[in-house]
Order: sequence, then structure tokens, then C-alpha cells
Amino acid sequence: MPAVQSAPTATLAINGGPKAKPTPYGSGPRFGDEEKRACAEALDQQTLFFASGQKTKQFREAFAARYGIRNCVMCSSGTAAIHIALAACGVKPGDQVITASITDMGTCSAILLCGAVPVFADLDRSNYTIDPKSVEARITPKTTAIVAVHLTGAPCDMDALKAIADKHDLWLIEDCAQSYHTEYKRQLCGTIGDIGCFSLNDFKHISAGDGGMVVTNDEKLAHRAELFADKCYDRRAGADRNPFFTAPNYRINELTSAVALAQLGKLDSIVSRRRRYGDAVHQGFNNIPGIIPQAFVPGARASYWFYMFRIDEKIVGPRAAFVAALNAEGVSATAGYVDRATYLYDVFTKRQGFAGSDFPFSFAPEIQYKPGLCPNAEAIVREVVKIPVSEFFTDEDAQQTIEAIRKVASALRQGGSK
Ligand SMILES: *Cc1c(COP(=O)(O)O)cnc(C)c1O
Repeated sequence: MPAVQSAPTATLAINGGPKAKPTPYGSGPRFGDEEKRACAEALDQQTLFFASGQKTKQFREAFAARYGIRNCVMCSSGTAAIHIALAACGVKPGDQVITASITDMGTCSAILLCGAVPVFADLDRSNYTIDPKSVEARITPKTTAIVAVHLTGAPCDMDALKAIADKHDLWLIEDCAQSYHTEYKRQLCGTIGDIGCFSLNDFKHISAGDGGMVVTNDEKLAHRAELFADKCYDRRAGADRNPFFTAPNYRINELTSAVALAQLGKLDSIVSRRRRYGDAVHQGFNNIPGIIPQAFVPGARASYWFYMFRIDEKIVGPRAAFVAALNAEGVSATAGYVDRATYLYDVFTKRQGFAGSDFPFSFAPEIQYKPGLCPNAEAIVREVVKIPVSEFFTDEDAQQTIEAIRKVASALRQGGSK
């Protein structure tokens, strides 16, 4: 069947034609009476301390039940969650931790704060998640953990990563900051490795301003996570409060947990609406010459924190012009997700883990951070177009977005003169 295309005469909005997306995106309030009521209830407790009030306790139980996992520890951010997870696993200075070459800096800060050396594996060019073959190639005797990042709300190839972790006796930590309710072969991401980490920052599926969670079925890891989030104070009844390792204060508080709990009540609806929109645009971007939709690993059920696709510049011309034309049609789109692969940040290229010190990079002089390290990640940085996904976007938004992509791709294929 030939690809459906706009009439070749459609004039691009950037050249004065009518917009393919003339109506504004759907929007709505994220916070309402549920969050207000929960905050008032927290304040009425006359304590905001997580261990004294009910909100943190209720959230932990509700999130663990939702994920079918035994333990949920709350903390102050997604970055804190990953730091806590690594520390609970016993990752120590000089260890090497393998992670994705495109991720939030928080993933790397967590590794560096352990005194461990981040080692970047390349991504799969088409699904943008960590490539298990590259992970395995970067294992050394100093490797102790893998942090798998389910980027954009799409799962990594967890069977392959788990097999590698098992074979080499490595901890497998899942960074689920972008992937609430993401599924891999009917399992929830966050429950497949040893520990799953979540963020409640203001840009994620659910927000409490800031905050984070660590989930695990392992009681020992859960206990160490609790200690590490709270200055190594053991708050269990009758416990000896006698810190035996250095730990930061990464505590959550009752106000944050109150908002998180109210948001959790909306998560099913948020994810299902995002899926409806994301699946629609993903389908709609098929069969458009020059457009390469995001690929997913087998068994993936994405939860669409945002959506990325690639363009073939040989067919539709330069990405900047493509994005400018899309924007003129009324579609929110940006050229790329991040401006460089993570290992090209100065902290790595200048080997400045801490001010005035090359710790922890001094442990691994052989590890270089330089262009060319992960060719697929660098290609993804150059090639992808990012479009937003929101639970408030409508079916009409999806259809108009698809129409705009078709129109722009079609016009630019023909030389951009129209
Ligand atoms: C947001 C994010 C983090 C960090 O979460 P914070 O709550 O901002 O610390 C870590 N990893 C990924 C992939 C993220 O998107």
C-alpha cells in the first residue's frame, strides 16, 4: 500500500500556508483538591517528619502494592534514589558502574557520589536504550553494577541485561525516572533488576515537586537503603542508633509524601492517556518516507514520558529546517533530547569529579571520555526529533501532529520549495 501523503501542493505554514495543527494542545491542571486536601491532612498531623506521620507510610505501602514488590523506600530525589541504590548494593570508591550514554546527569552524579567511575555503554540506534552487547564489552574486573535507564518511558532489553548481570555477578539497577508503569514482557520495569529507582521531580509522570523512591524485593537491600537515606540512623523500634557508615540526609517529608500519594491516585489515568497519545503518534509516523519512528524492544509496553523519532536527512534535508517547519505548523518539537552524549559533559572530559580533584577518575586512567566513544549515542543526539507527550493531549492533537509530520516530510522531500 502506498504511503498516505498530503497533497504535494500543500504550502508549508513556514512559507505562509495554513497550519496543519491550528488548534492549541490540550492542557489541564496537574494538581487539584486531592493534593490540597492531602497537604492539609499532613499539616494537621502536627508533624512533617516521615517516620512520625502517616503519608510516607501510606505511599510506601501503596507504591509497593502497585508494583507487587516487598519494599519501597522514599527519598528526596531520583538522583538520591540511584545513589541510595548503589550504596545499598555496596558500590564503593574505585568500582566501575556501567550506564547509558544518554541519560540525565542525576544517574551519573549518583555513581560519582559513590566514588565509582561511570562507564558509558553505547545505545541501540533505533530504540535509544542501552545496548547489551556494548555493556558486556565494557565489563572489567572492577565493574560491580549496571544502571539500566528506561529512556523516554521505553524499556531496555532486560532479558539480555539480566543474563549479563547474572553471568558476571553484577548488580542490576533500573533507573525508572522516565518510566512509570513501563512494562517489559508483562513485568513492570523497576521490579526486574535488584533495585528500581523513581523520581518525583516536577517533570515526571507524577510530581511532588521533588522526591524519589527505591523499590526492591530484597530485605537486606531495603534496610541498607533506609539507613543510607537517613544518615545511617536505624529508626526501627528498639534498634541501636549507631551509624556504621557515612550516609547523607536524603529524607522525604510528609508534605511531599502527601502530594505524592494524591498523585499516585492519578497515575493509572495519566499513563493510560499518555499511552493512547503515544501509541497513536507512533502508529501514525509509520510509512512516511524520511521518518524513522522509535523502535521498541520485543515485549515493550512504553509509558511515553516523551516521544522521539529520527529523520533521514538524505531524504528530508537538515533537521533544523525540519523542526522549524514543524514548529511553524503548530507542532511542539525540538531538535534532539540532549545536546551531547552524557560522557561529553565537562565533568567527564575534564575529569573533574570534585572541585580541584580528579577523584574518582584517578582510579581509572585508562578510561577516556571523548567523541567517538559511543557512535550510536552520538548519532541519536544528531538525528532525533523530540515531541512532547502529555496526559492532557487529545486525539485531535495526535491526528494534527501526524498530519503536520506528513506534510512537512512530503514538502521537504520535494526540495522545500513549496
Ligand atoms: C529525572 C531523571 C533522573 C533524576 O531525577 P531527579 O529527581 O531530578 O534527581 C535520573 N535519571 C533519569 C533518566 C531522569 O530522567
